[in-house]
Amino acid sequence: MTDYPSLHMIIAGEKVSGGSRRTFDVVNPATGETIGALPLADAADLDRALETAAEGFRIWRKSTPQQRAAVLQGAARLLMERQEDLARIATMEEGKPLAESRIEVLMNVGLFNFYAGEVFRIYGRELVRPTGQRSTVRHEPAGPVAAFSPWNFPIGNVGRKLGAPIAAGCSVILKSAEETPASALGVLQCLLDAGLPKEVAQAVFGVPDEVSRHLLASPVIRKLSFTGSTVVGKHLLKLAADNMLRTTMELGGHGPVLVFDDVDVDQVLDTAVAGKYRNAGQVCVSPTRFIVQENVFEKFRDGFAQRAKAWKVGNGLEDGTQMGPMANPRRPDAMERLIGNAKESGARLDAGGERIGNQGFFYAPSVLSEIPLDAEIMNEEPFGPVALINPYKDEEAMVAEANRLPYGLAAYAWTNDVKRQRRLADEIETGMLGINSHMIGGADSPFGGVKWSGHGSEDGPEGILACMVTKAVHEG
Ligand code: NAD
Repeated sequence: MTDYPSLHMIIAGEKVSGGSRRTFDVVNPATGETIGALPLADAADLDRALETAAEGFRIWRKSTPQQRAAVLQGAARLLMERQEDLARIATMEEGKPLAESRIEVLMNVGLFNFYAGEVFRIYGRELVRPTGQRSTVRHEPAGPVAAFSPWNFPIGNVGRKLGAPIAAGCSVILKSAEETPASALGVLQCLLDAGLPKEVAQAVFGVPDEVSRHLLASPVIRKLSFTGSTVVGKHLLKLAADNMLRTTMELGGHGPVLVFDDVDVDQVLDTAVAGKYRNAGQVCVSPTRFIVQENVFEKFRDGFAQRAKAWKVGNGLEDGTQMGPMANPRRPDAMERLIGNAKESGARLDAGGERIGNQGFFYAPSVLSEIPLDAEIMNEEPFGPVALINPYKDEEAMVAEANRLPYGLAAYAWTNDVKRQRRLADEIETGMLGINSHMIGGADSPFGGVKWSGHGSEDGPEGILACMVTKAVHEG
């Protein structure tokens, strides 16, 4: 049985804690109990991390692809060995069922192994020039990266934030969410134990706005990588503008799911319900707005509600739990506000709509239908266990609804009409589209959005190139 570990930062390879530093209480969302005290960085800690990151870049930009591959593969092996402990820690911090935490570890293993191969394929090109002249285009590591990752994928997102800069030859200062620090430390420790020089990757925690202002104002940092809400993303982009930083922004979504009347409704429901309540809906690519063709609307809505009521909610550490608590007290509060507002606007509540139990941050799997488009929940990312189901007449109206919002992260469509599948791939404004599938990611596939959902990609070759700059060299 894993106990929750003691907490620290990792600066220049040292475990840093104590002194006069402020602390943050880490809470188990299933019980509401405090399980750890996290030290928060002061300005001197951040300056030391910056100095170290500058040195880390001088070291790692000269590393060979073989060295980078060895570290990434070694870390992948250690992640596998430590999978069970890491998964338990993530569930204690974030609440999700253990099976989902284990998958997060596998996600990092896959990504690190993919990058370990990809480091050998960061090709430039040679331009056609007269004999005696030579012009080349090359990719070089961008420099020290400031990476901010959220609490909803405490292992998976950290792997993304660390893996790409390390594969590219950058150094990185990670500030993962203060609510889930031990998971982040566990991933970083695998990289360090696999031989990553201690200057190359560090972990700090702090008051988020203090840390981001301090790091992004430093001339040492050359790139910002952020995953989180659109509001915070816009704020960070403005800070990044002052130093003209490169940016990768993975922001919010409001996932449309188009369900046409030529599908097997029960089969779609089996996948859609599991997709919706994964991590209690706290997933940026969560299927959220179900845009259902009117002939199958009632069957779809009733089937969804029936399954939601039977969904097993409990402590993520317990066998058989399908959905854990929400990750922090802000989320059930947000559910209450958004679902309350939807009901006042005239929406129908088909399942859930209430908190569960009297400890922790549990909220029932919920279904709303026939929701007016001006209800807050139809416009603001709910980031919770609620499906929004509305009827539509035809493809044109369904595509218009999918594209109505300023978000464009993930979208899904269910139809057996091949020509329609191709039209949807052209028409839907999104970074990722699942057709007859809720699986939209993979180590080799770019993950990212358009419009207010952000820009840049993580994963795939694109994830490494996002941490590189281009240089053209012309020799006369
Ligand atoms: P929030 O918007 O304050 O924080 C979102 C994330 O950004 C957190 O991880 C937080 O630590 C970080 N953050 C906040 N201010 C920051 C700053 N100034 N500098 C650096 N990092 C900062 O609120 P929250 O309650 O934690 O989350 C609420 C909303 O955030 C959700 O409704 C959802 O829309 C969004 N969110 C999105 C993702 C995602 O994967 N895209 C993940 C978590 C949260």
